[in-house]
Amino acid sequence: MTATESEWLIPFNRPSFEGRENEYIASAIEAGHTSGDGYYSKRCHDYLESALGVSKALLTTSCTHALELAALLLEIHPGDEVIVPSFTFVSTANAFVLRGARPVFIDIRPDTLNLDERRLEDLVTDRTRVTVPVHYAGVGCEMDTISEIAERNEVAIVEDNAHGLFGTYRGRALGTFGCMATQSFHETKNFNCGEGGALLINDERLVERAEILREKGTNRSRFFRGLVDKYTWTDIGSSYLLSDLLAAILLAQLEARDAIQSKRRLIWSRYNHGLADWARNIGASLPGVPDDREQTYHMFYLIMPSHESRQLLMAHLRVRGILSVFHYVPLHLSPMGRSFGGRDGQCPVSEDISERLLRLPFYNSLSESQQDYVIESIHDFRP
Ligand SMILES: *Cc1c(COP(=O)(O)O)cnc(C)c1O
Repeated sequence: MTATESEWLIPFNRPSFEGRENEYIASAIEAGHTSGDGYYSKRCHDYLESALGVSKALLTTSCTHALELAALLLEIHPGDEVIVPSFTFVSTANAFVLRGARPVFIDIRPDTLNLDERRLEDLVTDRTRVTVPVHYAGVGCEMDTISEIAERNEVAIVEDNAHGLFGTYRGRALGTFGCMATQSFHETKNFNCGEGGALLINDERLVERAEILREKGTNRSRFFRGLVDKYTWTDIGSSYLLSDLLAAILLAQLEARDAIQSKRRLIWSRYNHGLADWARNIGASLPGVPDDREQTYHMFYLIMPSHESRQLLMAHLRVRGILSVFHYVPLHLSPMGRSFGGRDGQCPVSEDISERLLRLPFYNSLSESQQDYVIESIHDFRP
């Protein structure tokens, strides 16, 4: 990247705030509770639990930390295996690698770019403890098949739902299929508080220990609820609570759910309509969303006909002040992935897609005229 964010006419991302964030932060400061699990954290927990129907939602400092907490709760040990898509963010794998697990990389489907459930069972061994479906772009994975295979092989499911808050698969909320699921509220996600995350727990047996591990291995939450008369060290743990100041921002965002999601739906649909003919003409493809799931309008990506045309289109947009980005470098080809045996050709769809995909600017405050400019600039592109 050659220019700083402010130099871009159209940046890739711009965190958007919906109105009540400042008021809520001021009120958290006034209430004098700025550490974790204050008034706003509890409101966010209640909101997520009732909106999704999960047993427990616990805010964390990030999605990465929520994944780490999930790995601790599942008692992942050295030698255990975790099946993760190669086409994902590093934390999906690293949280488990941190406990000594070996990541086993699964390829993705060429239509949704979600892990290819048809390859899942072949990768299961007697050391497989968990699989981590990532609902890429907020389009649900094939959860019926994944759940059936996981259950039959006694493999836990932790959903990395960083893109998928409020999405559904066959009418059921994403984040409710695994024993646990994780959310991100990083500034690049649909609902943001700068940095933040949440662990969603569907298996009630994990709730009590989750509260302890998240609170530095102490029974502080139970103490505050009057369930024990001493607050003491009872388990391993770390410090995963989100400041109530950030929870205040997050609550304002969650309460603006309909406004945020309708803006994003509009932006997504404008790209989809505005680029359909162009894509057909040059042989590019647009995101695929199967009919049986509601997506979250997290991102809009193009899959270009070749690596070269992707690079040329990014350069063409850059000259016009438009920042488009690509991701992910397949994890199995990264230095860490290779240290776990990753090799060229192991996940051919991930390798191919990562060379051809690009993401267009996408944020709530992207205006219609700005978006028209992006779409027209793409129409002007001749590969
Ligand atoms: C953003 C993201 C994460 C990490 O989220 P943080 O809150 O920044 O830790 C993990 N997985 C996926 C798929 C993501 O997109």
